[in-house]
Amino acid sequence: MSIKVLKFGGTSVGSPEALRLAASIIREELPGGGVVVVSALSGTTDQILKAVSSAGSGDTNTALEILGSIEVRHRTAADALGVLKVVENAWAPLFDRLQSLLEGMGLLWETSPKAKDAALAIGETLSVNLLTALLQSVGLRAELKDAREVLRTDARHGRARPRPDLIRDACQSWNPLLAQGTCIVTQGFIGSCPDGATTTLGRGGSDTSATLIGEALGADEVQIWTDVDGVLTADPSLVPGARPIPVMSLREAAALSAFGAKVLHADSLAPVERGRFKLVVANTHRPRASRTEILFQVPERNAGIITSVAYKEGLVCVHFPPARDLDHVFQTASDLQDAGAVRYGLLNTPEGSLLAVRPEHADAADLLAQLAQSGLRVESGWSSVALVGEGLRQYPGGALALLATFEKETIGGILAGGAGISVAFLVPDERLRDLIPRLHQLCIET
Ligand code: ADP
Ligand code: ASP
Ligand code: MG
Repeated sequence: MSIKVLKFGGTSVGSPEALRLAASIIREELPGGGVVVVSALSGTTDQILKAVSSAGSGDTNTALEILGSIEVRHRTAADALGVLKVVENAWAPLFDRLQSLLEGMGLLWETSPKAKDAALAIGETLSVNLLTALLQSVGLRAELKDAREVLRTDARHGRARPRPDLIRDACQSWNPLLAQGTCIVTQGFIGSCPDGATTTLGRGGSDTSATLIGEALGADEVQIWTDVDGVLTADPSLVPGARPIPVMSLREAAALSAFGAKVLHADSLAPVERGRFKLVVANTHRPRASRTEILFQVPERNAGIITSVAYKEGLVCVHFPPARDLDHVFQTASDLQDAGAVRYGLLNTPEGSLLAVRPEHADAADLLAQLAQSGLRVESGWSSVALVGEGLRQYPGGALALLATFEKETIGGILAGGAGISVAFLVPDERLRDLIPRLHQLCIET
């Protein structure tokens, strides 16, 4: 059985028009059934986080006002699509649950990562109900399956690590439905840990849900439907002239997302590597526009050619003096990673060692504060800028020569990716907006 998984991001389900487009793409792409993974309606996750933070500081009124606006927005969308009557029964317990969670947090003035995950999951659960009702209303054989039944993770709430072996076993229960030609519609971003509690995979994690499910079901193709015409040569919000990349190697995509390109979640490429399926990135709003195919085989690239430029803000650099032994450096790197920091680079030089991380979890921020207290130099306000391209493997000197033209910049360290297809360096946050368009022009436009 050939299986396709389609994932729709927040803006792809963020309005009645977008939802209608998503439904027509599903009809076209999955005539014989398949899996559809859905994010929360755009902005909903941010709103739930805001409500949680208000409740945690004792401001339950604001939290409930935000809940009210989430409810109005969802009801308005369902009404415009003619499915309000069908979904409101399924939604009522979800809104009640979110209200109880927020009230509980407001009473306690406390938000545990576990409770936060429980609240966040409601965003995706609302949207999955809405899309399923819409698909059924247009005559598709669609069935909602709760992702928590299959997407098993560990218990690191807020950025849980998936368990591919358990996910594979659990996904087998979907096979009979798929064999009947059903479209299974499920939540992205959320999973469940051994005690049954809800977990989340980190912001933007629905891409990873889709590729994990693709891997588990032995899919031939996973499609990520978003709001741009594929993976572009740079972030279009910094480089308006960024161009779509028609074909990329899996390694290029992995390096690009590891170095911060938001279009694919950083953990989403590992399942593609294991499952060896084709990954496609396309635009829900312009389904016939160009798209990016990410292939396991490496496409031919001219030596030195750079495919794309990526960046990540908000990094923290930890400096270790040269006298410290390396075991301590590696142990700290591994402790930070376990605490939910994303590691961007580790440099060991005669002048000491430099570790650059992004603290994506509160535990990692606490650990960094402890390191600063222990006397290490811990500096926030750094960004990484990366040049990525298979062409760099044949001719890495090209990228370094390009960097030489930036010699007047403050550069915190040059990091080379393991696969030899990326060169990254650290710059102060405030340099990014000027540097990225200049680099794009130098490396890609000329
Ligand atoms: P979704 O909600 O569909 O998951 P995201 O906002 O997570 O969408 O990711 C898509 C966004 O990623 C684009 O709108 C764009 O602003 C940003 N982006 C950053 N770098 C790139 C890149 N190299 N190519 C395409 N998009 C990028
Ligand atoms: N809704 C989640 C977020 O906004 C997950 C996702 O969109 O991938 O981060
Ligand atoms: Mg995303």
